[in-house]
Amino acid sequence: MQGSLSLFPEEYRVTEQDGRKYTRYCLLSAGILVGVYGLAILPILPLAALPIAVLLLLPRWMINFHELLHIYDQQQINPVIRLMGVSPLPLSVISLSYSQVRTLHFAHHAAPATDADPDAYHIRGSWPQSIFNAFVSPEQSAIRWIAKHGLTLQLSLDLATKLIILGGLTWVGGRAFLWLWLSLRLVYGLGDIAFFRMIHHREGEYGTFALPLPSWLLASGELIFGQTVIQATIHHDIHHQNPRIAARALAAARDDAIAAGTA
Ligand SMILES: [Zn+2]
Ligand SMILES: [Zn+2]
Repeated sequence: MQGSLSLFPEEYRVTEQDGRKYTRYCLLSAGILVGVYGLAILPILPLAALPIAVLLLLPRWMINFHELLHIYDQQQINPVIRLMGVSPLPLSVISLSYSQVRTLHFAHHAAPATDADPDAYHIRGSWPQSIFNAFVSPEQSAIRWIAKHGLTLQLSLDLATKLIILGGLTWVGGRAFLWLWLSLRLVYGLGDIAFFRMIHHREGEYGTFALPLPSWLLASGELIFGQTVIQATIHHDIHHQNPRIAARALAAARDDAIAAGTA
């Protein structure tokens, strides 16, 4: 498959235009989320608007953020995305920035679901173990990183900034902050399970697998979360084989590989 995909048509390749679109979607998701939070505090919207907004917006940030990891380095990425990392608002006072997440993600690509994969802790093991680890992955990844690489000045500054942001969000929001934060943690944990355990584990085996969905689930998933989120998740095996293929072209790349008899 690797060989056949290296010959994929040029239009499948991720472009600068894709990069700008992913950046736009991340920033739009963050902006709308902050807006809904503000309206819930006022309170123009009910608190129940917060979990709905998080459910719609956080997966969009997470997947577009992942696509960006394969395009921009930390000098090229938008500064908000560079600081915030895997979530548009801090999930924790201890969480990594873009640069560290990018390094870890490339190591994940190099040896997915093996002991050498820094993401192995939330892929391997029993289901309860991997689910628990998925829900505490922002902290675990950060603690593991700091234990191994230490704390740079930039990462320290980023952590201090996140602490201030979290303090500010709590101060202005009170009870609304609890709704926001618990929603973020819940949806992030579920997204983490889908993007790591579910596509790198199959019936006791570890690897990188397709996630075929029934057509009704595919259609409703794309309606709710958008095409990029669903396509990047269900075709994650194709992405691993060739990370330069844009999420929009992963399905076509799979069809080509099937037609060529290499999938
Ligand atoms: Zn990737
Ligand atoms: Zn993966």
